[in-house]
Amino acid sequence: MYHHVLQEVLIPADVLQQRIAELGAEISRDYEGEEILMICILRGGVMFLTDLIRHITIPVAIDFMAVSSYGVGARQSQGEVRIAMDLNTPLADRHVILVEDIVDTGHTIAAVLEMLETRHPKSLRVCSLLDKSVRREIVVPIHYRGFEIPNKFVFGYGLDLDEHWRNLPFIGVAKT
Ligand code: 5GP
Repeated sequence: MYHHVLQEVLIPADVLQQRIAELGAEISRDYEGEEILMICILRGGVMFLTDLIRHITIPVAIDFMAVSSYGVGARQSQGEVRIAMDLNTPLADRHVILVEDIVDTGHTIAAVLEMLETRHPKSLRVCSLLDKSVRREIVVPIHYRGFEIPNKFVFGYGLDLDEHWRNLPFIGVAKT
């Protein structure tokens, strides 16, 4: 079991699901009459995406991309992000929502937004389940936000703890 790595449950499963249903309803309202493409950044956003789209009542297409950060320390914080696995879908003239597990410093999402803008989507918004905004180093627009969280390392519900425990149905704080 996870008790040796878990300090506390930060967001229980039912609270997560309730908020995700609200986000799904909000997105459905905002894009009524349109179709959207939701892009999931692997791997942390997978659970969020699959739960979220079940609450969306307009036509949704999905695609996946993986990114990796270059270098260490200072270099990484400059946001050198490259595409490790690209999309299969063209973005031109489509309404695109980028689905993320967590925005921390903001460098990942800022770099991905910049890359995707060059493909000329009709619109491009960010939907992040978690927002650790006290750690932000670069301003990024988060249009749909699940929860603001404190500056703690969290895992579960798609987010890993050394590549494990993505399977937990809740968001927990890791023991330090
Ligand atoms: P950023 O570029 O915004 O600093 O980092 C975003 C990425 O860092 C997230 O997609 C996630 O992979 C990772 N990350 C940031 N904070 C946490 C955290 O508390 N827990 C886990 N598991 N990953 C995190």
